[in-house]
Amino acid sequence: MNKKTVIANWKLNGNRNQIINFINLLNRDSVKINKCLCKIIIAFPTLYLDLAQNMITNKNVFLAAQNVDIHLNGAFTGEVSINMLKDIGIGYVIIGHSERRIYHRESNNIIANKFKIIKDANLIPILCIGENKKGKKLQQTKDVCKKQLDMILQLCGPLAFQNTIIAYEPVWAIGSGKIPTLDIIQDTHAFIRTYIVNYSSISTEKISIHYGGSVNEINIEKILQQSDVDGVLVGNASLNYNQFIKIINIINMI
Ligand code: PEP
Repeated sequence: MNKKTVIANWKLNGNRNQIINFINLLNRDSVKINKCLCKIIIAFPTLYLDLAQNMITNKNVFLAAQNVDIHLNGAFTGEVSINMLKDIGIGYVIIGHSERRIYHRESNNIIANKFKIIKDANLIPILCIGENKKGKKLQQTKDVCKKQLDMILQLCGPLAFQNTIIAYEPVWAIGSGKIPTLDIIQDTHAFIRTYIVNYSSISTEKISIHYGGSVNEINIEKILQQSDVDGVLVGNASLNYNQFIKIINIINMI
């Protein structure tokens, strides 16, 4: 069985003490986590990534940034470059999250350029895609996903999605307590996988597709039982250690 991956997205939450406590608990539970059938990737706010990197003792736990700039260096006040993330040992970067698409007006073109910068630096992009409420109503899920993937395939070529993570995150599901039906999750993941395979020569198992949007300890088991779900991206439920470790424990039992 392939290891499932759990990505925790802390967004603009937490402070130094909370992050230290969270990592101390992760380190305390290291033996249990090492034996587990999942890999953990945590996206703390950028400011704390270096601290976290120096504290984590568990080889099954990795760190992600929540964003990166499209420039490598220069006069871009307030930005963080891929080389800076690499410099402190970060392995993954989330891009295309709906909150960045909406609040920071990041287009598919900007996201594709970020994707390329991350891949060129040999880090792993975690690309979020998915339809909003209107897209759901109009049954445009597959069209939206296709469009969001196309820009990347055009810029980075057919092998773009080799050794990357895609997170199917319906925008309307994020933070809402609602998830699509399990059939829709499976069907959308299968569509994404087939679409990429048909476009490229990548083998099916090399494409990693995660589900994100209101994942919790109640729905995780059924979501992960869908054959095309390789892992989950968890927002809110990852902020509290007890809730988070419950999710990990459930994965261990699946
Ligand atoms: C997210 O924002 O990526 C997310 C999945 O959030 P939540 O789990 O809180 O819906």
